[in-house]
Amino acid sequence: MTYTGKLSLHVGGPDNWQTVGELPGLVIVNPYNNPDDFLLGFCDESWAISGVIQFDSVEAAKARAEHYYSGVEGKWRPTPYSEEQTREYLRTEYEVDPDSEWWIVRCSFCGKEDTDTAGIIASESATICYGCIEDFHKEISKTE
Ligand SMILES: [Zn+2]
Repeated sequence: MTYTGKLSLHVGGPDNWQTVGELPGLVIVNPYNNPDDFLLGFCDESWAISGVIQFDSVEAAKARAEHYYSGVEGKWRPTPYSEEQTREYLRTEYEVDPDSEWWIVRCSFCGKEDTDTAGIIASESATICYGCIEDFHKEISKTE
């Protein structure tokens, strides 16, 4: 496949923008936490993803990939990993239950889901939302 140079993808953030250029690997990922999304990922030699672009279908991702890498059409291969291997990887490497919504962070005290507005503080063994922090602060600040 030939890199067309048409890719304009910037990753990082305001302090550290980087441009994703020609890379040796492409993947299409259907994330567990967003089953309607298909991410076209640009990968280095070890298949680490440098950046992704979101699509609504595998076909759309493949069509766009062809725009960036002409000749990639027909070179796509199915994942070598079975569903059970993926689940085992989640259990051992991420220590999560593949049947749970493990990507959702919940407050260990009230069970509220983390959202952009609420905010949450997490340690390795517990999480707490700002609402509970305020409640606890009120409780311990009580004067009798
Ligand atoms: Zn809470």
